[in-house]
Amino acid sequence: MATAQVGVVILGAGPAGLVLGNLLLDRGVDCVIIERRDRAAVEGRARAGFLAAHSVRVLTEHGLADGLLARGKTHATCLFRSDRGEFTLDYGTLGHGEPHTVYPQRELVRDLIAEYLRRGGEIRFGAEAGEVTEEGAAARVRVRGGADVTARYVAGCDGHRGTGRAALTARGTRTARRDHGVSWLAVLVAAPPSLAAVGYALHERGFAGHMARTDTVTRYYLQCPRGTDPADWNTDRIWTELATRLRTARFGPLRHGPVLEKTVVDLRSDVLDSPGAGRLWLAGDAAGLISPSAAKGANLAVLQAELLARALEAALVHGDGTGLARYAADSLPRVWRAHEFSHWMSGLLHGPAGTDDEARYGRRLQYARLESLRTSRAHQDFFAENYTGI
Ligand code: FAD
Repeated sequence: MATAQVGVVILGAGPAGLVLGNLLLDRGVDCVIIERRDRAAVEGRARAGFLAAHSVRVLTEHGLADGLLARGKTHATCLFRSDRGEFTLDYGTLGHGEPHTVYPQRELVRDLIAEYLRRGGEIRFGAEAGEVTEEGAAARVRVRGGADVTARYVAGCDGHRGTGRAALTARGTRTARRDHGVSWLAVLVAAPPSLAAVGYALHERGFAGHMARTDTVTRYYLQCPRGTDPADWNTDRIWTELATRLRTARFGPLRHGPVLEKTVVDLRSDVLDSPGAGRLWLAGDAAGLISPSAAKGANLAVLQAELLARALEAALVHGDGTGLARYAADSLPRVWRAHEFSHWMSGLLHGPAGTDDEARYGRRLQYARLESLRTSRAHQDFFAENYTGI
């Protein structure tokens, strides 16, 4: 049995689906969001924290930024550490002169859900989307354990393992992909940040990162071998390794606190050749997964949600399909630019393991890249433009 047809059914209540849903309601397009998990799980998932100026502008323009403007923190510097010392880049005064706003993804998701419901939107939590089929001028989404939904369009915002992507690739859409061959132990700690800035540490034992989240929560990353079990990393081991790689003996101690969460993230990237066709259009991780090395994923999700909202409104309200026809051309160049920078950043942060000549060559390139960033104003401007830009 199917429920009445809506304008757009959105799969997934992550940043992409929730921004899209809010923007569609704003434009008078009726929609429903299907989310496979319950509300508490969706609102409790910690992930991103760094929002580019473009994302903040989009959220502000559409009345979705009250929380982040009230509680987010502006960050405009980052620092790099290695055995050759430490240097800071004031990227907020370089390149286009744009800072980041640090605001935890789970708080953003909470704000977006509250606002979407306030605008009269419907979210079906605990409803997993299955098969997506097209029937003339409509599409049908099977919902496991619930009524099917029919809509004029389906927006697949259900992440890189979701139904939207699977349906598109099953029709022959190809994916360009790369496995960066590196994993991170991502640790969330209940302690204030230890550094005044984002910290990237290059070390022969592997990369370590420090990212503020709030005044009382800090994210740390430790490069680890593929296949690492987070259970093998007890609290002592985590702090000892962080101290070694962040060189606390030389630069000062870290602020300790209970470990709230530890997960392993494999650094992989991919982009679908085309983010949609016909009645099915994708945004966010569903359309392309980007490794977290340059903190771009949630920002690309916001960018694509904004473009897709405009295109769907034109198609549904004005009968004008040009926005959808142009969606790939409008979004992919910016997506690829973010991937190029993220890939470059991955090469900066991760030296090859081993002691053979090839590994030594790779590590020396890594240090030459770092030295260029430390000393060349042109390189610093390029870095800042790409680090903050979307
Ligand atoms: P998701 O957030 O994955 O949301 C998809 C939703 O779809 C989920 O709620 C899921 O439950 C639901 N779903 C899945 N399948 C189905 C189905 N079949 N039916 C219904 N619902 C379904 N990005 C940044 O910009 N800055 C950062 O600082 C940053 N840090 C990160 C740190 C880590 C450790 C990680 C892992 C990622 C980080 N990212 C960062 C990336 C960012 O979190 C993601 O790119 C972002 O969450 C993508 O949003 P999305 O809405 O496309 O997908």
